[in-house]
Amino acid sequence: MVKDLTWIEVSKEALTKNIRLFRRLVGPDKILCPCVKANAYGHGLVDCARTFLQAGADWLAVNSLYEAVALRNADIDSPIYVLGYIPLDDLEEACDLGLRIVVYDMETIERLGKIGKAVKVHIKIETGNNRQGVLIGDLVNFANFARSFGNIEIEGLSTHFANVEDTTDHSYAEKQLEIFNRAVEELGAAGIEIPVKHCANSAATILFKKTHFDMVRPGIGAYGMWPSKETYISHLKENGSDLELVPAFTWKTVVAQIKDVAAGEFIGYGCTYKTGSAARLAILPIGYYDGYDRGVNGAYVLIKGKRAYVRGRVCMNIIMVDVSDIEGVELEDEVVLIGRDGDEFISAEAFAGFAGTINYEVTTRVNERIKRIYI
Ligand SMILES: *Cc1c(COP(=O)(O)O)cnc(C)c1O
Repeated sequence: MVKDLTWIEVSKEALTKNIRLFRRLVGPDKILCPCVKANAYGHGLVDCARTFLQAGADWLAVNSLYEAVALRNADIDSPIYVLGYIPLDDLEEACDLGLRIVVYDMETIERLGKIGKAVKVHIKIETGNNRQGVLIGDLVNFANFARSFGNIEIEGLSTHFANVEDTTDHSYAEKQLEIFNRAVEELGAAGIEIPVKHCANSAATILFKKTHFDMVRPGIGAYGMWPSKETYISHLKENGSDLELVPAFTWKTVVAQIKDVAAGEFIGYGCTYKTGSAARLAILPIGYYDGYDRGVNGAYVLIKGKRAYVRGRVCMNIIMVDVSDIEGVELEDEVVLIGRDGDEFISAEAFAGFAGTINYEVTTRVNERIKRIYI
């Protein structure tokens, strides 16, 4: 077998703890539906799905049909909710797999009606994200159209917040919630009761109990990451207590070469870095192909629990780091790219800081080809 030069260690214990935290937060009666889209935020679709279910999750949310197929092929028979668009020609397969489908256009309803197989749908309401969704003025008509087909059951009603994690000012989310509540009322007035109403992502689940309704859909929090600094600050302000989410993700590689360079040498493409004094470099066999962002600025990795700063540009398959101040580094020593090593910790948030992005993008971007090891 070929040895892996880079791998990700995923802590099942951390995933389990996070699901149990969410369970405690919402209580026993709500449907807990963690999102495993985007390869479980980079943590590995099938293993995370299994771990979440074992930890007490009720449903799973995916983005695309292919992800639902992968879960069913792995004998996962829990309810699966598909958040994203399913092409008309694939709707029959979605019915056959018993998936819950989000709906917001007439064409999808029409095709489901024509297929004639039993299917549970969740109507998405436009409340201010302007992504997917039925306008509230069209809602009752839309629901009645769906109900005119005997095989279509309206099981759910959903919406998605546009501005809950990016701010400590939650007035926009409040406005969206108002519209959502109005939608529930209007359907009720038309004699349509919907059993599974849901709108909460991680931030809403953590911050606002009134967003829990019948089901919550946490994503990032289930992997032990906070949606944002603002959410963390709001949580401390609103709830006054900590919520100990545990990151589950550690990305590792090994030292592939050690080399001494003299003062005044250039390092890497573009000759962007010039040594001021003699330095010892470790060459690491990962690069932007693997998902190590080429745009990082001030980034470091951890070797023997110490920081080794990236020097020069990130290459496709290689980065160079400075180990001048780290004693005894040897070929094939383990390196932490994201995660903990002794007292040092490079969180996904810290890496996002290097790369000018958010934690969500950091873990989801790590190449799917890289092996996830569950510990
Ligand atoms: C991804 C997603 C979520 C989860 O969001 P987090 O911020 O990761 O908790 C919830 N609902 C929908 C519709 C999503 O697309």
